[in-house]
Amino acid sequence: MSVSEKRFLDPTILASVLDATNTGIVITDNLLPDNPIIYCNAAFEKMCGYDHDEIIGHNCRFLQNKDRSQEARFEIAEAIRNGENCVVEIRNYTKDGQLFYNQLYLSAVKDLSGNVTHFIGIQNDVTSRKKAEQTLQMNFKETEQKVIDRTKMLKESEEYLSSIVETIRESLLVMDKDYTILSANHHFLNTFKVSLNETKGKLLYDLGNGQWDIPELRLMMEEILPTNNPVLDYEVEHEFPHIGRKLMLLNAHRVELEGQFKDRILLAIEDITEKRAVEQRKDDFLSIASHELKTPLTTVVGYVQMMQRLMPENSSERFRSVVDKTERYVARLNQLLKELMDVSRIQTGNIELHMDYFDFDKMVRETIEGIQAATRGHRIIVKGQPINQCYGDESNLVQVITNLISNAIKYSPDSKEIDIHVSRVSSFIKFSVRDYGLGIKEDDLKKVFERFYRVGEIQKNYPGMGIGLYICDQIIKNHKGTLWVESEPGKGSVFSFTLPVNLDKKAAYEY
Ligand code: ADP
Repeated sequence: MSVSEKRFLDPTILASVLDATNTGIVITDNLLPDNPIIYCNAAFEKMCGYDHDEIIGHNCRFLQNKDRSQEARFEIAEAIRNGENCVVEIRNYTKDGQLFYNQLYLSAVKDLSGNVTHFIGIQNDVTSRKKAEQTLQMNFKETEQKVIDRTKMLKESEEYLSSIVETIRESLLVMDKDYTILSANHHFLNTFKVSLNETKGKLLYDLGNGQWDIPELRLMMEEILPTNNPVLDYEVEHEFPHIGRKLMLLNAHRVELEGQFKDRILLAIEDITEKRAVEQRKDDFLSIASHELKTPLTTVVGYVQMMQRLMPENSSERFRSVVDKTERYVARLNQLLKELMDVSRIQTGNIELHMDYFDFDKMVRETIEGIQAATRGHRIIVKGQPINQCYGDESNLVQVITNLISNAIKYSPDSKEIDIHVSRVSSFIKFSVRDYGLGIKEDDLKKVFERFYRVGEIQKNYPGMGIGLYICDQIIKNHKGTLWVESEPGKGSVFSFTLPVNLDKKAAYEY
């Protein structure tokens, strides 16, 4: 068979071939008015849902229904006008109005003189691909929107955080794991009179004149990331460049913001120079006032004692009672003044310890007998085991025990019993005082050992200065022991202390 024989197939065979394909094919006659369709195959009919009779003779525009102003239509019109081929994607509609996307290959058929006689349209339904593309596009847009929203949120939270950081009246530095400064707030720059350029990107230890390059501080800072142990209330007194001698309080923590960064260190620096000076002035006042009061009071004590001695045999009962009461109140005043002087001595580090061996059991017994004799409402019950010899400052320890038991009595007005327990735990003496009184709230448990701290609600109803427990704590610390409290509001409290039995004499003196 020759080539020309192959090309000119029987038209019926050709029509069957065209009908067998899945691609829609239409042929329009460009020489007739309005370029009507003169042929369409079965796939085209199926694609658009119109019958053969409804298609032949019509211009292709019926496929676009009312969707006329599509860009693709202008491209097709242009191609037809110029007798050129074109490829477009166009929105078409089936007979029952369903949208489908058509990829249309339009090719112009020309006669020997170059006139366009026909157009052949090859059409593929690309709806599913188009929908997939649209979904993809939508997903992309959604993702893009999410990214925009998230970025906005982060920016807002960053602005929020940085407004807090900038408002805070404390100097803040953020460092990476190698202690390189990543940021510093305004308060830091203002306090140390430095610029951001002098700070950012520098090593903490290279700042200023090396003020933070302290071996002990370095060790603590190095522990923060591996152990998550913060640096708490570390004081640095230093001659700082530009601002002179200052006392700074340092607190450092590991900070982490999920997804954003990890292993950062936040260092907060508080200038406590002024605060400490004010505290010092108060301490000085306390010390001066208590000493000034002590001298006349000692004289008054002497005179009261003299009045008791010189009291005539035949003095009236009333007169005797007035003098006795005066003696009692003066003794109380003396005791209060002694406590105030103790506080100021502790503050100045002038505590004198008179360490010696003494009988701990005897000391406890005599102290409790003394308190019991003056107490009507409560019974003090002692349990536990004998301790025998102990090494310490006996009168200081009497003061601790007296204080704890007096508090137990004072703060349990509605109960009748105070339980004392004495025992030996390993190489320590353990002494506990339990009452069934008011108890202490969780928040106040630690604070009751601070000087002048009194729990709010009870202040008005119970006399006191809030220094007894502070003194007790200091005395026990001087003996290398610990004092603590366990308590439940409304149920009562247990104050306990431990003392090492074999207290190393030298260690105690050196404290
Ligand atoms: P003061 O008793 O003079 O106020 P302290 O230093 O002895 O001073 O006690 C400090 C505070 O601790 C008291 O004001 C009280 O609020 C609380 N406190 C001490 N002991 C007890 C106790 N046994 N039960 C309840 N609260 C107590």
